[in-house]
Amino acid sequence: MPFCPKCGKEVSEDAKFCPQCGQNLKVGVTPENTSGQGELATVPEEVKGWSWGGFGLTWIWGVCNGVLISLLCLIPVFSFAWAIVLGIKGNEWAWRNKKWDSIEHFKSTQRPWNIAGIVIFAISMVALIIIIPAVLVPLLLFA
Ligand SMILES: [Zn+2]
Repeated sequence: MPFCPKCGKEVSEDAKFCPQCGQNLKVGVTPENTSGQGELATVPEEVKGWSWGGFGLTWIWGVCNGVLISLLCLIPVFSFAWAIVLGIKGNEWAWRNKKWDSIEHFKSTQRPWNIAGIVIFAISMVALIIIIPAVLVPLLLFA
């Protein structure tokens, strides 16, 4: 037996309305759009998850997605740790802070950011692999 999405009462399979609260049970249960409602907003599961955009592009991503707390990345000693925090929490913050038309709108906006974030992350990893030996090896050899 299904349950009423509003009050939680058990309802019969073919019921059109909940006998307890009158909730229309035939309307496809679309989750309420809670974006832009700040700290109290519940974040849909689809929105949660690692944000490559937040991680790779940090404050640039943040300014464009309403996550101004990402500007803390501009503090040099702080920036890498904060990039990881943005990767973990970025999507939730963006959802809470900015009004999005729908989950799909949110996801389609994040997609290019995520691709760019992955590319930047890959480039910086390659740069590290090349630059660190390029600096260290001569230092060790000629010191
Ligand atoms: Zn109900």
